[in-house]
Amino acid sequence: MREARDEAGGRPEPHHRHDMVVVGSANADLVVRVQRHPAPGETVLGSDLAVHPGGKGANQAVAAARLGARVALLGRVGADGHGRLLRESLERDGVDLSHLHDTPAASGVAMIAVGPRGDNSIIVAPGANSLLTEDDVRLAAPLLRAAPVVSLQLEIPLPAVLAAARLARRPVLNLSPAMAVPEELLALCDPLVVNEHEAAWLLGDAGDPARQAKALLALGPRSVVITLGADGAVTAEAGAVRPVPSPRVTPVDTTGAGDAFTGALAWRLALGESLAGAAAFAARVGAATVRGAGAQSSYPTMAEVETL
Ligand code: ADP
Repeated sequence: MREARDEAGGRPEPHHRHDMVVVGSANADLVVRVQRHPAPGETVLGSDLAVHPGGKGANQAVAAARLGARVALLGRVGADGHGRLLRESLERDGVDLSHLHDTPAASGVAMIAVGPRGDNSIIVAPGANSLLTEDDVRLAAPLLRAAPVVSLQLEIPLPAVLAAARLARRPVLNLSPAMAVPEELLALCDPLVVNEHEAAWLLGDAGDPARQAKALLALGPRSVVITLGADGAVTAEAGAVRPVPSPRVTPVDTTGAGDAFTGALAWRLALGESLAGAAAFAARVGAATVRGAGAQSSYPTMAEVETL
């Protein structure tokens, strides 16, 4: 698809510089394995500390870039060691960081305790992410207006998310972590992407995914995707609900699967693929991701996706 686009004008025009822009968070994931999670007031000894690049925005950007997408990340990191780690990992995957701002605050951090059965408990200290403003987004208006897709999540302040959605040609929103959002934001989403838990939270009701997808569509978004772990996903648009199977794999670690799914989905939509086609591709990326440990470290290249 890239060839077809480049043929038309020789060198790509500036407004074709990015397939997608991610507006969102970057966090250092501080991971400790524990035999059991501490109760309030208790101290437990854990494993040595592992520090990994993460955050939903950075994860989406890396997932898409590693597949071959041209991606820019708009966000904020601290001018500290974690900020440098985050920049380096994004640069390695070729993410455009010209709109990732250094900020006089600590970088975002996720403190993750992993129990013996892979059960996580996570505390996020948003740090620099919480300082991303509507003005940051408005200053990047040309970048956002030019990109076929802008991919969003909710680890940055809602006013910045809403400003980006208003400017985007096609906003893709992963409503995660689940929280109440303005109706206007929901109405702009194309698609709204949620996992089963977030869907149940939004609807106040768990149940059949196809029914849930229709109910979510009734909240206003132009289209909906619900991810269903090993069961793949379901898409809904204009009354058409379609199941999307996921390849069978042996899961090792599901961390960051939803972010990889959304990053891959956004990219394929940017290339002009249908919602069902893009979701089928994203399900293969999600499945490839759960075969490896960690979030970004397990994200596949195109060659790896093709083996599934
Ligand atoms: P989240 O990480 O937000 O909870 P999911 O667990 O639904 O999201 O995973 C996102 C996608 O990753 C799924 O739609 C699916 O394609 C893939 N996936 C996740 N877990 C598995 C699994 N155990 N086997 C195969 N694919 C999986």
